[in-house]
Amino acid sequence: MNNILYIVIPCYNEEEVLPITAPIFLNKIEILIQKGLCSEKSKVLFVNDGSKDRTWDIIENLSKENNRFQGLSLSRNRGHQNALFAGLMYAKDRADVTISIDCDGQDDINAMDEFMEQYYDGCDVVYGVRSKRETDTFFKRFTAEGFYKFMRMMGADIVFNHADYRLMSKRALEGLAQFKEVNLFLRGTVPLVGYKSTSVYYERNERIAGESHYPFSKMLNLALNGITSLSVEPLRYITKIGFIMSILSVLVIIYAVVTRFFGFTVAGWTSLLGVMALIGGIQLFCLGIIGEYIGKIYSEVKQRPKYIIEKITEDK
Ligand code: UDP
Ligand code: MG
Repeated sequence: MNNILYIVIPCYNEEEVLPITAPIFLNKIEILIQKGLCSEKSKVLFVNDGSKDRTWDIIENLSKENNRFQGLSLSRNRGHQNALFAGLMYAKDRADVTISIDCDGQDDINAMDEFMEQYYDGCDVVYGVRSKRETDTFFKRFTAEGFYKFMRMMGADIVFNHADYRLMSKRALEGLAQFKEVNLFLRGTVPLVGYKSTSVYYERNERIAGESHYPFSKMLNLALNGITSLSVEPLRYITKIGFIMSILSVLVIIYAVVTRFFGFTVAGWTSLLGVMALIGGIQLFCLGIIGEYIGKIYSEVKQRPKYIIEKITEDK
């Protein structure tokens, strides 16, 4: 079969790991070509996300050495999601099918064969799903799995334990390109594109070298961004909390009036303070959530570009 495959890999400050994983990706694509799962014109596409180290030099050298490698460089750091999107949009016009993967070797590349088989079986989207997380620390596993559960609860329909290791066909990418939102969260948006999809399970390894760029704080940001970009469920929770609080306050008023008739008026001071503090807290919390959404509207309205491509290595 001669469908052109592009493996799209975002890289940010990965000088330590890239020289190790680049040959692994190259080897994989050669095997896929030999097995007849993709065409001779297939490529490994690196997206340099404004790295501050030698990542781009490494990518340039790789592409000079072997024309299966290609590189894009963004004008500055735009974050994993935007870098990946930039690569996918570039690949969309050149490839029939893409597989996105991180460059740290954590995701098992051997799952790609099955990805391609599922693609030829008629799937437009294939999600790579981690079957185990034994190599992650307890904290990472706990927060990451909590993240998926919380996202689901908040109305963002995402595939459990799937990160951004996935296959997308050309027409799925064309669908994705029509989503104009600036606040990108691919894990939530790709399922909205539709078409036939499936999951392939694999075991996740440890990072080969370098450090994770997703500490807890970034993951919390990703979760907040994901929820507020994809659903208005939290606003609905606010309404529900508000409703319950109003009923409770009616009960409190009845209680206050009754105690007034029995003549214990001064004693109510503590409970009054408690109620005031509680209501104050809930109001601030709700204002914060509404603020999140207004912030989203603000950045969507501006329609700033998600990325700007600065350099592209020669396409041979
Ligand atoms: N990455 C990126 N831009 C960023 C942060 C990360 O392109 O601002 C890339 C990074 O090079 C890697 C992938 O996104 O290929 C995932 O990052 P990482 O491995 O640090 O995250 P984790 O796997 O720990 O969640
Ligand atoms: Mg990683």
